[in-house]
Amino acid sequence: MLSDIEIAQQAKMRRISTVAAELGLGEEEYEPYGHYKAKVALTALEKRGSIPDGKLIYVTAITPTPAGEGKTCTAVGLTQALGRLGKKAAVALREPSLGPTFGVKGGAAGGGYAQVLPMDEINLHFTGDLHAVTAAHNLLAAVIENHLHHGNELGIDPKRVLWKRVLDISDRQLRQVIVGVGDKSNGVMRESGFEITAASEIMAILCLATDLNDLKQRLGSILVAYTYQKTPVFVRDLGVVGALAVLLKEAIKPNLVQTLEGQPAFIHGGPFANIAHGNNSILATKLALKLADYVVTEGGFASDLGAEKFFDLVAPRYGLKPAVAVLVASVRALKNHGGVAMEQITVPDPAAVERGVGNLAKHLSNLRDVFGLPVVVALNKFPTDDPQELAVVLDYCRGQGVPAAVSEVVAHGGAGGIALAQQVLATLENVENRFAPLYGSDTPLEEKIKLLATKVYGADGVNYTPEARKAMAEIKELGFDHLPVCMAKTQMSLSDNPRLKGAPQGWELTVRDLKLSTGAGFIVVLAGNILTMPGLPKTPAAQKVDLLPDGRIVGLF
Ligand code: ADP
Ligand code: MG
Repeated sequence: MLSDIEIAQQAKMRRISTVAAELGLGEEEYEPYGHYKAKVALTALEKRGSIPDGKLIYVTAITPTPAGEGKTCTAVGLTQALGRLGKKAAVALREPSLGPTFGVKGGAAGGGYAQVLPMDEINLHFTGDLHAVTAAHNLLAAVIENHLHHGNELGIDPKRVLWKRVLDISDRQLRQVIVGVGDKSNGVMRESGFEITAASEIMAILCLATDLNDLKQRLGSILVAYTYQKTPVFVRDLGVVGALAVLLKEAIKPNLVQTLEGQPAFIHGGPFANIAHGNNSILATKLALKLADYVVTEGGFASDLGAEKFFDLVAPRYGLKPAVAVLVASVRALKNHGGVAMEQITVPDPAAVERGVGNLAKHLSNLRDVFGLPVVVALNKFPTDDPQELAVVLDYCRGQGVPAAVSEVVAHGGAGGIALAQQVLATLENVENRFAPLYGSDTPLEEKIKLLATKVYGADGVNYTPEARKAMAEIKELGFDHLPVCMAKTQMSLSDNPRLKGAPQGWELTVRDLKLSTGAGFIVVLAGNILTMPGLPKTPAAQKVDLLPDGRIVGLF
């Protein structure tokens, strides 16, 4: 089989004007960025306020192996399959980050014959949104330091500046840095650090803002520091809300591209789901729901991360209701949960699949029982899967009364997703949707965390470090404890320990710290040791990428 980039290069793309016109967008409603990308004006959504929404198909997965189990591929392939069935479908996804693209995971534009195009541009600089978020974030950092340097009128405690820097590159060296080294003219010497752009609160704000006014409100509400008197300092106190908004004015517009088979694809915003809220922009999803009858979207990692955050933190705030969940499972991940090491993962072992099925069971129960959603299991078939292994999963689903389909969208594009699309359409018709978030805004903070830990992760209870207790008390004192929770937790396990596979039992969640994201409007709860700036692996994907003399890119996947 050809590589992802080769398949993408061979594809014949349609002009973005054609894709936009088919969606019903007027010429004044979008701005082409070259021939194959466009930014859609925010007025396109405002104008369609009274049009009923299409159906939202939410793609999530079981606990993945480090390379991912194929949610993006499934989301794109399912959209292509719905298109083949004559449905007006669109996909809404996050923008890839250069961290994973040049690290372990590779790009995030799908794979094989289930990709979004132009794949190379989407994976690299795209329309500059991630750069804009990086610039806005770092401008704010510079303004804070500058305030300290020029007399510190607000009385900011240099030891309690909460705002760090960001970079869209995985670089562990920058996690902790000393800034302002040297003589007095170099500013105030302090400890700072870098996070990846996907973890920036400004990225979350870009994804949660509903219009320019809301964007400015949220930027102004970011808590950046405390004064010597322990009072909070917000961005609005620094007078740079307008400057930040100006840097983000194009980035906030949803990007329109296309699938390999020509369906519209909205790719906008890129928070990770382990250290951030893990869903594409609400503006892109809402716009897609106005323009298409079926919108397929993906949350990062498994049902305990991106999906939970969408159901509890995004959907209720914006009156969105997912219509059905697609739970992506793979034989290789189930074998890994069954105790097989990654080096042995391609060796057929149906018994190991059977042993690992508890992980699928827990995610299925999260979606069906905890959140009340109709579910379809998409069994993403890899070339090395053995028929007996696939049968174990299908038998399990039959026993549970949950519809399941083998998905071959990576190998065959939309044609490989017809069975899955038919199951999804039938489930939308026939299965009752009792969707409800896990908690409400009046649920006390500790109770929210306990509900997440016990109901979604399968923990027996929650432990707090003294630091976490202190942070929690401070949040209550400031009156922000009503905000929803955004858990920062490993994606490698349902628990807070990446080594515990399957559906871990007999453990307690350890909360290490809590951080306020008052602009985004949530409380980040840090569980276990989770890093907000990833590192690169021993052999990063960057070493395989090259540019040929004719300008073609090789090695991007
Ligand atoms: P996720 O969105 O769940 O993280 P992706 O859809 O991005 O996962 O897929 C992760 C990686 O695995 C990608 O490089 C993709 O091309 C590859 N992949 C996914 N499904 C298959 C498959 N069925 N066969 C071969 N490779 C696949
Ligand atoms: Mg993905």
